[in-house]
Amino acid sequence: MNINFEKGNGLVPVIIQQVNTLQVLMLGYMNEEAFQQTRKTGLVTFFSRSKQRLWTKGETSNNKLIVKKIHVDCDKDTILIKVLPTGPTCHKGTMSCFGEARSKGFIYDLEDTITERISNKNENSYTYQLAKKGINKVAQKVGEEAVELIIESKDSNSELFKNEAADLLYHLLLLLKVKETSFEEIESILKSRSK
Ligand code: AMP
Ligand code: ZN
Ligand code: ZN
Ligand code: ZN
Repeated sequence: MNINFEKGNGLVPVIIQQVNTLQVLMLGYMNEEAFQQTRKTGLVTFFSRSKQRLWTKGETSNNKLIVKKIHVDCDKDTILIKVLPTGPTCHKGTMSCFGEARSKGFIYDLEDTITERISNKNENSYTYQLAKKGINKVAQKVGEEAVELIIESKDSNSELFKNEAADLLYHLLLLLKVKETSFEEIESILKSRSK
């Protein structure tokens, strides 16, 4: 990968973005060594301007940034890295250094939470417990929630109706997850139909 480090006296700005939600998490700088190390280890390593040394994000907090995709801009003087963060990226405890502003909406955040519960094998999590039972059980649950929604549609209690709609949406996201399908793929189909 050909990057122009000279332009910024050896440093290029690096935008860090969450691979699934596309939330901008932070901005840092890399010199050539930091960039090579990032590519080699798959963990984001910056050149810290305050510490004046290589800084692997998460070296003390353990909140690391796992590299998923690297993009270089049109004139090769800025890098965009899509990552999977292992914890809050900001040292103040928020996901993003730019506050909690989201770019793609809550459904994507929820999809991320579901992924996290399953990959961490969180025994206290309803999501993990249900996912563990397999595709058939999750699909059956979607069916049950759909039936509950039908029943509440015939009633005048709007709170119950809305809650069943939320249950259905959540279980549908979980079914997509266990079927290794992303919400984005479903969104694409809907988008293509509305052309
Ligand atoms: P960490 O790399 O997460 O282990 O954090 C080590 C130190 O780097 C922290 O004590 C902060 O001073 C600094 N730091 C960590 N994360 C950030 C960030 N997102 N933006 C700026 N400084 C950070
Ligand atoms: Zn540029
Ligand atoms: Zn921060
Ligand atoms: Zn329900």
